[in-house]
Amino acid sequence: MPITVHQFPCLSDNYGFLVRDEASGQVATIDTPDAEAILAELGRLGWTLDLILNTHWHPDHAGGNETLKAATGATIVGPREVTRIAPLDRALEDGDTVMLGQTRFEVLDTGGHTLGHISYHDAADGIAFVGDTLFALGCGRLFEGTAEQMWASLSRLASLPDQTTVYCAHEYTASNARFALSVDDAPTLKARADAIFAARERGEPTVPTTIAAEKATNPFLRAPLLRPDAASAAEAFAEIRAAKDTFKG
Ligand code: ZN
Ligand code: FE
Repeated sequence: MPITVHQFPCLSDNYGFLVRDEASGQVATIDTPDAEAILAELGRLGWTLDLILNTHWHPDHAGGNETLKAATGATIVGPREVTRIAPLDRALEDGDTVMLGQTRFEVLDTGGHTLGHISYHDAADGIAFVGDTLFALGCGRLFEGTAEQMWASLSRLASLPDQTTVYCAHEYTASNARFALSVDDAPTLKARADAIFAARERGEPTVPTTIAAEKATNPFLRAPLLRPDAASAAEAFAEIRAAKDTFKG
């Protein structure tokens, strides 16, 4: 296998991801939610950190940059907005490429949760790290961007191949499922929600997901179907997003 992804819980509901390019042995972390936890996992695995890939500037994603850089000397890349709180060696933009050994990550602009949020797509391995843009049965809140911007970002992720493995940055799925069931009565959603509640009862993660699963059941991607009278797809998305923001479930 050309790439190994090691996923572990961080902070209260974040996931840490350590990625190893098997050809070169080079290792990256996707975001830096908790420097001490990431260093502990690196030590346990016997891996050496080479690269930090940030998705956006929020402290639960870039807050460990400085400590990890000091401890490992890793190179930090990410959107320019990260410099609001943390050091950055290279600012990335849409269409840029980041190499981890022989593994190639394409940078996708997925702004909306924050204005500069980016995702990393490894097309050869069918893997995407999407930060706080797309969640299992959910999507990130619109802290900085517009509904139009977020809809464009989600549509872009939805256009990736169906079998793409999607690593989201938080375990929000059970709560997302409760909201999804309140706006969508599709049997496929009901079945997935039941499986999610059972997995969480057993303490199992519901991340990663796939593009196919999200297209079939994520109420934000299904917004135009769920709100057929909306003036546009982005408007339908805005309505579902607003409903989630006030949902008490
Ligand atoms: Zn965030
Ligand atoms: Fe986050």
